Amino acid sequence: MNIEQQPPIVIIGTGYAGYGLAEALRQRDQQTPIVLFTADDGHNYSKPGLSTALTRDRAAGELVTETPLALEERLNIRIHTRCPVYSIDAKSKILSTASGEQRYSKLVLAQGAAPIRLPLQGDAANEVISVNDLQDYRHFRERLQGRKRVSIIGNGLIGCEFANDLANAGIEVDVIGLSAWSMDRLLPQVVGEQLQNRLADKGVHWHLNTSAASVDCIGDGYRLTLQNGEQVDTDLVLSAVGLRARTELAAAAGAEVGRGIKINGGLRTSLPDVFAIGDCAEINGQLLPYLAPINAALPALADGLLGWPTMVQYPLMPVMVKTPACPLTLQAPAADLEGDWHIEQTDGGIRALYIDAQQQLQGFVLTDDLGSERQYWLDRIGCPLEQVA
Ligand SMILES: Cc1cc2nc3c(=O)[nH]c(=O)nc-3n(C[C@H](O)[C@H](O)[C@H](O)COP(=O)(O)OP(=O)(O)OC[C@H]3O[C@@H](n4cnc5c(N)ncnc54)[C@H](O)[C@@H]3O)c2cc1C
Repeated sequence: MNIEQQPPIVIIGTGYAGYGLAEALRQRDQQTPIVLFTADDGHNYSKPGLSTALTRDRAAGELVTETPLALEERLNIRIHTRCPVYSIDAKSKILSTASGEQRYSKLVLAQGAAPIRLPLQGDAANEVISVNDLQDYRHFRERLQGRKRVSIIGNGLIGCEFANDLANAGIEVDVIGLSAWSMDRLLPQVVGEQLQNRLADKGVHWHLNTSAASVDCIGDGYRLTLQNGEQVDTDLVLSAVGLRARTELAAAAGAEVGRGIKINGGLRTSLPDVFAIGDCAEINGQLLPYLAPINAALPALADGLLGWPTMVQYPLMPVMVKTPACPLTLQAPAADLEGDWHIEQTDGGIRALYIDAQQQLQGFVLTDDLGSERQYWLDRIGCPLEQVA
């Protein structure tokens, strides 16, 4: 009798979400076949480490924690590296990939997000780089060799982390940002300005309320022309204007997508037996592009894939910003919440509490030594102001 083998669970992506899921599945089950596809070389590394690696003087190869071969052996999984998936036939449960067709029993999209490219003018617009994965970082290090000045387009969290890291490495940095102060979506003005001042002390120049219009070659460097007419000469241009969830594959297969691939509380997409996790996924209209939501989702997804449907419980997920010039710990309030920042300057740093219209604590930012108060304020989220102050 010819008993057909059950097709594997297939995971597209070998980032924190993809490899994390393979680990979580193997902790629960040694036998179910697991196959991963990745467009990159499949080396495991910590992506958050990319924006502190210059300070730590780490070359790209030194950031690798495990090779795909070692992962295949340790976890008893199959990894197809440099093998993009081109399309999903959700009805027949077949993928079309660079190495042919692949059947699946259940499919997980862990495709991450890609850097947004600004529509820049100028003869060097294509030479602007982004650092979103290990290969980008390798390229960045090569291009940085012997260079003294770097311009960063984008004054959000990632732009500020790279500004601090480059400044620590002795590079002169210009940051160009659209908003009036850095990390304006996460920080009140006074904290954003404190961060700018501390980085300015390390040699970072700020060009705010404007954006880059064009990049042209000049000598062996570049000239950036800003929308306010200012010109900045530099050796390298780094773009850090945000990421866009990779939704194309899912959308072409008929899945519901918004800013990300839409999933429910059990990480299911609108397609049968197709799930999504990590930077590519959208839950309740929100993207959650951090490690903590992936950590929260992994056990539930692994259980669900193995036949025990489970809903994810997301805890509060504070963010520690890697700007050692001005250490920041924050719990961002929900984007659509009306409220005001209540600011307190203390000897240990700035304490900013976000209080909503019902006078309840909904978020906070703590600088410097006040970061040690993180748990205290996390425990008081949702509490009335008079009980917390
Ligand atoms: C510089 C930087 C610093 C950060 N710092 C922090 C921090 O301090 N704390 C924090 O919580 N978060 C941080 N983040 C965010 C965090 O790193 C991400 O949320 C997380 O790594 C996303 O993991 P992922 O697995 O969803 O995506 P990724 O790691 O991007 O993995 C996506 C994978 O999908 C593959 N892929 C995509 N499309 C296809 C296809 N069609 N076929 C095959 N393979 C495909 C890619 O090759 C890749 O393997 C940082 C991010 C950056 C860029």
